[in-house]
Amino acid sequence: MERILRIGIDDTDSKRTMCTTYVAAQALKELEKSGYKPADHPWLVRLNPNCPYKTRGNAAICLSIQANPEDLSRIEEIVVSTVERWADLESEGTDPGIVCAWAEQIEHLRDLYWRAIWEIIDPAEVVRRCDEVGIRYVRMKEGRGIVGAAAAAGADPDSLKTFEAIAYRVPSMWGRERLVDEQSVIEMDMALAQYTFDNYDYEKGEVRITPHTPCPVLAGVRAITPQHAVQGLGMVRFYEPVDFHMVFKTNQASDLHYIPARIRDMKPNTSYVVRGVVSSRPTVIPGGHVFIRISDETGEVTLAAYEPTGSFRKVVQGLVTGDEVLAYGALKAKPRGLTINLEKLAIIRLVKAVSKAAPTCSVCGRRMKSMGRNKGYRCERCGIKRPELKPVYMESERKICEGVYEVSVSARRHLTMPLKLESLRRHDEHC
Ligand SMILES: [Zn+2]
Repeated sequence: MERILRIGIDDTDSKRTMCTTYVAAQALKELEKSGYKPADHPWLVRLNPNCPYKTRGNAAICLSIQANPEDLSRIEEIVVSTVERWADLESEGTDPGIVCAWAEQIEHLRDLYWRAIWEIIDPAEVVRRCDEVGIRYVRMKEGRGIVGAAAAAGADPDSLKTFEAIAYRVPSMWGRERLVDEQSVIEMDMALAQYTFDNYDYEKGEVRITPHTPCPVLAGVRAITPQHAVQGLGMVRFYEPVDFHMVFKTNQASDLHYIPARIRDMKPNTSYVVRGVVSSRPTVIPGGHVFIRISDETGEVTLAAYEPTGSFRKVVQGLVTGDEVLAYGALKAKPRGLTINLEKLAIIRLVKAVSKAAPTCSVCGRRMKSMGRNKGYRCERCGIKRPELKPVYMESERKICEGVYEVSVSARRHLTMPLKLESLRRHDEHC
């Protein structure tokens, strides 16, 4: 009697080479050669973007195949030998983990999935959990990858709402410059704007479907359906051979990493969404980084919009004391104090901005000159002195509007939902 087996794989890559999606894709190809049928697209599961052990994007993979219980050892052997062949095992910090769980055992891993998006989990806890409920696993070297492997196997399918079609390079091209036609990426982005996202950063003039690492990935097109991901990839012109491509189902662009919190309860290396009122003026430091402080009834925290966030910084610079915002981002411990690296900002309510000016002359109508603090004003044309006059306060125009703002495409986290996707989803719900 065939059942569905979920195979979680993580931590097979290193900073210098490889990519866990490639190792998993090779494992799936080997399994198919041995006669096993996939039960779903492979899952590309993004976990806590603040994890200090992550190689790059902190992703783990889960393969789903149809299998008989008596085949488990054979399947495990195929996956282990694929990992041994392709993983960068010589690299320090590449510590693969493989977890094999039958679909009916997945509930035992479900909470690990959610926690792995929000927290850092001790591998010993995952080993204990798997042992308790009889879930098979393999650890290589330090085996830290068991955390991501278990989390990917336990992923909630309802949380996987987007797709990525990834094209891989032939091994002779690994480490060399990627030969991708920029104009074709722009044309694809324009044609499939409603269905794909993060293809191109128009503000920076930068292709976003290609990584900048020496890994086997040539390019990846993200979309809201598998068909549009493949169609998008097919529209891109490559001036080098594509070895093969594979479509992954992902939790990218989900906003799942944000935990709603009050300022006092926040801990570093966690992503939050926090509501607060602006409590300082924005400051800009050399390099173009912008900082501002917000407070709630429990405390105060700094928000940072770094230079790579692009024109998003203008929004932060337009805030004034008293504005109410929702800040989305990762909390970091910095010399200046706890700081949220902004990924998104919702401006809920703008206060009226008031500016101070000198009164106008009652005779000629020109603006008067101050005679010093609390000493009144005089008119330079008429020579009239009016020591009793006070400054006038005027409402000044706000340069920003209420609404939601996001950092530039190239500064976006994999888990952060692009605003255009939010509006597409809302549109879907209303129809
Ligand atoms: Zn005058």
